[in-house]
Amino acid sequence: MKASSFLYLAAFGLRTILFRREDPILGTVILTDQCNLTCKHCSVNNLRGVLYPYARVRADMETLYAMGVRILFFCGGETFLWRDGTRTLRDLVREAKAMGFLIVNVVTNGTFPIDLPEADLILLSLDGDRERHNAIRGETYDTILENVRRATADNICFYMALNQINKGAIRPVCEAARDLPHVRAVSFNFHTPYPDTETLALSRAEKAACCAEIGALMEEGAPVFNLRSAFPALIEGGFPTPCRQCVVMEDGKLSVCGRCVDVPGLCERCGYFFVAEYTLLFRGNVRVMADMLRTYLKYI
Ligand code: SF4
Ligand code: SF4
Repeated sequence: MKASSFLYLAAFGLRTILFRREDPILGTVILTDQCNLTCKHCSVNNLRGVLYPYARVRADMETLYAMGVRILFFCGGETFLWRDGTRTLRDLVREAKAMGFLIVNVVTNGTFPIDLPEADLILLSLDGDRERHNAIRGETYDTILENVRRATADNICFYMALNQINKGAIRPVCEAARDLPHVRAVSFNFHTPYPDTETLALSRAEKAACCAEIGALMEEGAPVFNLRSAFPALIEGGFPTPCRQCVVMEDGKLSVCGRCVDVPGLCERCGYFFVAEYTLLFRGNVRVMADMLRTYLKYI
C-alpha cells in the first residue's frame, strides 16, 4: 500500500473512532449476477442473469466515490464474465484507480484466466482440498489451481467460506496459499446461513475449533489475512452488525453492509470476518487496531 493511501485510511479510522462517525470507506459494486457455477452454499447466482451495463456500473462507482468510499470491490456473480462492448473488467479496475479509489479489489471464482495485475487484490474462492472444494463448487479445483499457477501477478488472496462440508480442510488451503507463488494469503469466513443453506452453518463449538486451527497455523507461519483478535467475537457472535462503514451498490440500489441486510435475522448470524473486524475496529478496539495495522501492511 502506498504511504499516502495508508495515511488517508488511518486518518479516516481515527475520525470514525473519535467522533463516532458512520461514513462508509469500503464499497462493493456488483457487476453481474451471472455465474458459470452453482455452488452449494450460494444464494446470489443467476437470479436475473444480467450483466449490468457500463453506464450503470460507472454511475454506481461515482456514487460510492462521492460518499467517501476509497476501498472498492468488484463482485458478482462471476466478475470475469462482465463486459460491455469492448470494455472488460480490466477497464473497470483501471477506471476505478483513475477516479481515485485507493485500493481496488476483485472477487472471482478463479475459473477464468487470471490476468489482472492492475487489481490490488484478487479474492479467489478456494473452498478446500480437491475433494471438498469440488463437493461445494463442482469439478473446478484443477482448473482454478492451473489458472493460479499461470496468473500474471502475485496479487491473489484465497477466500474460503467454512461450512459443514469443508471445515476439515483448513490446512490444505493454508498450505496452498503458502506454497503457490502468486498467492499472498488466505482469508476465511464462516458460512452465513442464508435461507435454504442453513444446514451448512457451523455450531459455536465448530467455529471455535476452526479458529483454534487457524490460529495454530498462523503461529506456524501460514499467511492468513484475518485478524486473530476478532476470533472470540466471531465464535460468540457478539459483534455489532451491520457494518455502517461498508456499502454495496447493485443496479443503482444502495445497501448498508451487504445485500443480505434485508434478510430477516441474518445479521445476528453473520459469518463474514470483515464485519467483525471492521465493526470492532471502528468501535475503538485497540487489539483489533494493532492487528489490522500489522496484517494489512503485510498483505496489501
Ligand atoms: S462462484 Fe460465487 S456467485 Fe458463482 S455460484 Fe459460486 S458462490 Fe455463487
Ligand atoms: S452483517 Fe448482515 S448485511 Fe452485513 S454481511 Fe453480515 S449478514 Fe450481511
